[in-house]
Amino acid sequence: MATQALYRRYRSQTFDELVGQEHIVRTLRNAIVDGRIGHAYIFTGPRGVGKTTVARLLAKAVNCLAEPAERPCGSCSMCLSIADGSAVDVIEMDAASHTSVDDAREIIERVQFRPAIGRYKVYIIDEVHMLSTAAFNALLKTLEEPPNHAMFILATTEIHKVPATILSRCQRYTFNRHNVGDTVTHLREIAIQEGITLEEGAAEAIARAATGSMRDALSIFDQLMSYGGGAITLHQIQGLLGVTAAQEITALSEALLGADVGAALAVVARVSEQGADIRQFSRDIVNHLRLVMLVKADPQGTTLDVAESEADSIRSQAVRAQMGSLVAWLRRLSELDYELRTSPYGQLPLELAVVEAIAAPQAAASAPVALPPRTSSQPSPAPRIEPARQESARAAEPPRPAATAVPQPDPVPIVSPQPVVPAPRGAEERSDPAAPVLGERVPFVDVTDLSERWPAIVRDIRAKNRNLEALIKSGIHPFEVTDDTVTFKTDTDWLLAKVQERQNLLLIEQILERHTGKTYRIRSVAATQKREVTNAKREILRDTSNIPIVKAAMNVFDADVVGIETPEKED
Ligand SMILES: [Zn+2]
Repeated sequence: MATQALYRRYRSQTFDELVGQEHIVRTLRNAIVDGRIGHAYIFTGPRGVGKTTVARLLAKAVNCLAEPAERPCGSCSMCLSIADGSAVDVIEMDAASHTSVDDAREIIERVQFRPAIGRYKVYIIDEVHMLSTAAFNALLKTLEEPPNHAMFILATTEIHKVPATILSRCQRYTFNRHNVGDTVTHLREIAIQEGITLEEGAAEAIARAATGSMRDALSIFDQLMSYGGGAITLHQIQGLLGVTAAQEITALSEALLGADVGAALAVVARVSEQGADIRQFSRDIVNHLRLVMLVKADPQGTTLDVAESEADSIRSQAVRAQMGSLVAWLRRLSELDYELRTSPYGQLPLELAVVEAIAAPQAAASAPVALPPRTSSQPSPAPRIEPARQESARAAEPPRPAATAVPQPDPVPIVSPQPVVPAPRGAEERSDPAAPVLGERVPFVDVTDLSERWPAIVRDIRAKNRNLEALIKSGIHPFEVTDDTVTFKTDTDWLLAKVQERQNLLLIEQILERHTGKTYRIRSVAATQKREVTNAKREILRDTSNIPIVKAAMNVFDADVVGIETPEKED
């Protein structure tokens, strides 16, 4: 089993490797080449479509040591340290998991300090709409007069919850869902690299289930890989997700078009026999018919974001289908999701719906329409219904108790087709890098030894608590190691208080133990003097920036006040 989630292992390290979002990549690349780099960006779009990945690419690009056109190169020391999370100048926060209101505000305010190594100090704030009011105010204040070295990359799935005052100061980029074609291509590439064989149609089924989220697609892929065997089959995917093979969707839509009740019910029987999720299947068929309707309405103008074989069948069906029937079918079948969820009768609502759709398609349609084209010469749909139902009933009977396990009081946990939507958060946790990777667990020799091993330790802390990592990067440093005690120095009293919070102490202690095989007592001291100096300096810098002649000079030279030298000292 892989030690690292696929989504992490195959996270793009350069713009070239990025899948999709071409419009964003193009704009950002040009900005980097031209040196037009903003202080604040906001990335919006659904989850799992690459917002954080692009945020890190941008953080690398502005700090990369390669030529502008090649940034981010993905291989210089800056790029590598940002990729593995050890770069102190790139601070990632997750506003959604921030427990203390003050944390985010304090961390944001510390952007005033210059970057330690890179050109830019980059703050990546995930789910920024969850920030507290106090933190938003701090952010706004910073964005009003950002230091030249500051860069904020905000990401959100809910842009409407971000205050307009923040939005107006950010360059905004909207991320699209990944289309099926891109996802399929990416999955196939990964399959080759992982030495996994994908059955025909498997990549498409995963892509469809992921509904445009690459992270979900890779999380599903991950779970399927963990079954072992070096091959991923459609059967496994159905088992895991209840996703139905494309051919069953095509078969049912063909049966509807051909008004063939028997064939339609046979498809339903087959699908439920395979243990697939009937609700998911109903959604898939609705999506399919919707595309047929769109192509019917505008054959040239409709772009189909589906696998090639499916596109062919959609186009061919659009030619044969009648608009009135399509509308009626969609009306009827789109009601199914609710019915299937509440009905105790397994696939019955779907069976009724397809029979109704074929037997009386015009009933649901608002305008009177002709019956759908018929492949058989039989004039009336009525006689076809009886034998067909019997036939399907026969087909569905034997596996019924197992396949359609809906009843509530089930003493045995249901094993197979449970998760319709993958659980990427759980998957991420499961494959967090914290546990493996460690070499030998030996105690620290001295503080230099600790400092060398510190980035790896912080990485493990990050896996457990991203915000503690952000705090550490904001100014908590290894200071001293004795036989049984590790001492940290903090830049401020506030950070001292943070590091002394019980849960933070426990986590640091635990990770240190994991790395050394030894339980250390954690002590911390604040570098009070340094703090007073820097605070005072910050104030002076701010005041100085407001002196009219300094302000004018800053405008003329597009400069920033970085220090103040007094005449006495100069002499
Ligand atoms: Zn680089």
